[in-house]
Amino acid sequence: MSETQTYTIGDKTFVLNKDKAEAAFAAKKVINGRQTMYFNILPLKYQWAYNLYKNMKANHWEPEDIPMQKDCEQWRSEEITDIERWIIKMGVGYFSAAEGIVGDNILHVVREAVTAPELKLVLGRHAHEENIHADSLVYMISSLGLNPHECESMFDDIETIEKKNAFVTKTSWDLRGDLDLTLLENKKLLARNMFVFGQCMEGTQFYGLFGMILSLYRQNKFPGIGQMFRYTLRDESNHIELLRNLLMDLVEENPEIWTEDFRAELRELMKEAVGLEKDFIRDCLPVNAVGLSADEFTQYIDYIADRRLEGVGLEPLSPGAKNPFPWLAEMMDIQKEQNFFEGRVTEYQKASALTAVHDDEL
Ligand code: FE
Ligand code: MN
Repeated sequence: MSETQTYTIGDKTFVLNKDKAEAAFAAKKVINGRQTMYFNILPLKYQWAYNLYKNMKANHWEPEDIPMQKDCEQWRSEEITDIERWIIKMGVGYFSAAEGIVGDNILHVVREAVTAPELKLVLGRHAHEENIHADSLVYMISSLGLNPHECESMFDDIETIEKKNAFVTKTSWDLRGDLDLTLLENKKLLARNMFVFGQCMEGTQFYGLFGMILSLYRQNKFPGIGQMFRYTLRDESNHIELLRNLLMDLVEENPEIWTEDFRAELRELMKEAVGLEKDFIRDCLPVNAVGLSADEFTQYIDYIADRRLEGVGLEPLSPGAKNPFPWLAEMMDIQKEQNFFEGRVTEYQKASALTAVHDDEL
């Protein structure tokens, strides 16, 4: 007999079936779960997704709130070298394409594939944050007076950017449209997509430029751009965590995906991603300049890639690799990611707090 709750209001009687509600909850799954348009978030099955959504919202920022006067003065002045301008151009050029690619994949592949409403909720926020990041680049381009056609042509004409983009988009096209996710091969395609976007791209291939631009920021160069990249990085650390949790839950619910061969395949993909990122770093920094060396940045990528692999339970590629930039670990998010669920992010949750941290460091 099913358990019911009866309400009598005036001359009407309403009977609510508790078992049906519980069955709906039990059918919440990462994929192949109950399909609904109701967006019934409660009761939560994936508590982490809702917590992450709240954290992401608390980190909200708007590009226009960040002053660019100093950046504009520096851009035109003698105190900035050509190599420093080139790093900024590569940053604006690469990320203009990359943010859009991630947002598009989250909306049209990952958010389409998952079935639990709280997962769709946090992925909607993820896509929105990629829009904010893309818009911050529009703001940088127009503030500095860069030629937008030049930024656009960087996607195709700089071979290392084109290759990084092709590496991720090829794992996205196969997953468009109606895909039967009861098939093992398609489950693996989705898992691979989550790994490539979360751990290889956002988790590793974003970090060469993040490091370079934040090195300039640390030297008091381009404070507005640096601030926006810091906010972006804080968001990216949540995206990496989101796609990591999603992959882990997908694997837990579909353990047949996680074969030895498949794990080896993911590790190979990371190796490819690291190679592409190292080539890209050498294009960003063709000569050593202003305290920045390409060798240190490539070593940094080895270090970051291994943290990502370990995060999803895979063996590192360069065991023992050291972080050549300990200061960057503080400014970046490694610690914060580890502390994420201990709730120690409050100091980052307000723009004023972030500025205060920055002032202390200078
Ligand atoms: Fe982004
Ligand atoms: Mn992102």
